[in-house]
Amino acid sequence: MSVYPQLYEGKAKILYATDEPEVLLADFKDDATAFNAQKRGSITNKGKINCSISSQIFQQLEKKGIRTHYIDSPQPHQMRVKSVKIVPLEVVVRNIAAGSLCQQTGLPIGTVLKQPLVEFYYKNDGLGDPLLTRDRLLLLELATPEQVETIHNLALQVNEFLREFWQQCGITLVDFKLEFGLDSKQEILLADEISPDTCRLWNTGETDPNLRVMDKDRFRRDLGNVENAYQEVLQRVLKAVETNNLK
Ligand code: 5GP
Repeated sequence: MSVYPQLYEGKAKILYATDEPEVLLADFKDDATAFNAQKRGSITNKGKINCSISSQIFQQLEKKGIRTHYIDSPQPHQMRVKSVKIVPLEVVVRNIAAGSLCQQTGLPIGTVLKQPLVEFYYKNDGLGDPLLTRDRLLLLELATPEQVETIHNLALQVNEFLREFWQQCGITLVDFKLEFGLDSKQEILLADEISPDTCRLWNTGETDPNLRVMDKDRFRRDLGNVENAYQEVLQRVLKAVETNNLK
């Protein structure tokens, strides 16, 4: 809850206005949805855990020169963010085949991709977030060609950072989804969140296909121990950040 007016409620977050016109407050919810909200539930403490993980990662990315919407985190489940106009694209980067890539191409799960695959999906719940071709994206004017180029490059830079960061955590980054927004100067900022809700994370060294899962697939596939897995990811993130900050 917040004393500020609510602007928008999404599946995982509520956005509030603040006293500053260019600043919003994102309140991370425990609600969990999957398969375009056909499956609904809740993960205890998810809001706090995902907000804390995202806050740490955004701060690390800022240190690497990647601009994000993150300002600060006044409470564990709340993040102050720069107000942006969200580009209606879900940008997925894949390092290892899983999920819809396997379903749609027949590639076996776990296939290591020779190079990262960047995909654009139309952020549109009514249409079920369909995979876009570049030409369809341009046809719909979801972004300009220059913006697509910038977003593509940023997604690969974020992947480079995240792969190494999650490796430090003893976690293999399979794939993840990013969202970007435009600020008042039309600059592209990384927005939304980076968390076990938006990344596929496998416990490195664990070969059991169910035991290795440390992300939202535990909820999607009813694997159990969802909160424990999210908590474990947070503890490893905090340890990695502490180590990096001491360097
Ligand atoms: P896939 O296309 O295999 O279902 O998802 C690829 C990656 O993007 C996974 O890490 C998945 O968590 C993330 N992803 C794709 N779409 C969404 C979405 O609508 N919400 C969330 N939270 N993650 C998504």
